[in-house]
Amino acid sequence: MTINLQAKFPGFDIKSHEKLAPYTNTQVGGPAEWVFWPHRVQELIDVLALVRQEKMPVTVLGNASNLVIGDAGLEGLVIFLSHLNQITINRDDQTLKAGAGVPLIDVTQAALQDSLSGIEWAAGIPGSVGGAVYMNAGAYGGESADWISSITVLTPTNEIKTYQNVELDFGYRHSLVQTTGDVILDATFKLVPGEFKAIEMLMEDFNTRRALRQPLEYPSCGSTFKRPEGYYAGRLIMDAGLQGFTIGGAQVSTKHAGFIVNVNHATAADYIAVIRQVQAVVAQKFDVQLETEVRIFS
Ligand SMILES: Cc1cc2nc3c(=O)[nH]c(=O)nc-3n(C[C@H](O)[C@H](O)[C@H](O)COP(=O)(O)OP(=O)(O)OC[C@H]3O[C@@H](n4cnc5c(N)ncnc54)[C@H](O)[C@@H]3O)c2cc1C
Repeated sequence: MTINLQAKFPGFDIKSHEKLAPYTNTQVGGPAEWVFWPHRVQELIDVLALVRQEKMPVTVLGNASNLVIGDAGLEGLVIFLSHLNQITINRDDQTLKAGAGVPLIDVTQAALQDSLSGIEWAAGIPGSVGGAVYMNAGAYGGESADWISSITVLTPTNEIKTYQNVELDFGYRHSLVQTTGDVILDATFKLVPGEFKAIEMLMEDFNTRRALRQPLEYPSCGSTFKRPEGYYAGRLIMDAGLQGFTIGGAQVSTKHAGFIVNVNHATAADYIAVIRQVQAVVAQKFDVQLETEVRIFS
């Protein structure tokens, strides 16, 4: 029998059988057995020590903007780090340290307020700092790898460890953390002095471009597929005639073929079926295997 985390940790922010769909950008996904929002790192350490000893599955989520959670939900414990949300700026060395749960958009706003330049490209990315490290998020020629100097993690053996940028094996939508099972606790960005107005204008320009090209009016998980070598996923999907292709409530966006949008009460099964069909048609027509950027938890 599964342990009762609420009974073991009274006073901690823990819920049982909580529906995950409302927490995700796609608005799909079944319930989690347990959901935990640590307010301090020590709470996280305490809970992880027990659940790992009990071999309970653990899933750490950020803003859930790059994933699809299955309709059956997730076994074990889901952790949201949204309360690890401190931002500290050191004006002397132009570093900005942010907790893993800080929305990336808030990081860009904080940098702007201190006229620190470098991460304007992230202005409209709806992820958290933890997710941006894990995925090496990027846009408009910038990516996390260029601006993160170090991160702090909690290792699978519950030790706090710091990685420097060079140790993080950053690549296209890849970081070392995808292979270690570490929980990212915070990240430090090394920025450069800039001019408030210029930073603001660049952020506005990127946001305008997003609003023009991306179907922000619908729930989605952003670009569904990684860019295949030598191609653009969106262009291949468009050329395959798949824009508007719909299963249930999930649809290949008519505005940006790289996005799959939830147009009408989609289920995770709808999303996954559209993803698989797009992969099959593109493989058959162009002999290109589209790999998902979106992470599927089912
Ligand atoms: C409208 C829209 C636009 C987008 N535009 C872009 C874009 O321009 N560029 C881009 O790169 N992405 C984009 N994305 C995708 C997404 O926002 C990014 O990948 C983002 O970095 C994911 O962050 P998250 O906090 O939402 O991560 P989640 O989706 O919650 O998680 C992603 C992965 O990271 C892991 N993870 C998250 N936090 C932690 C942590 N603290 N410790 C360990 N593992 C963790 C999760 O387990 C999961 O495997 C977009 C998405 C949407 C919906």
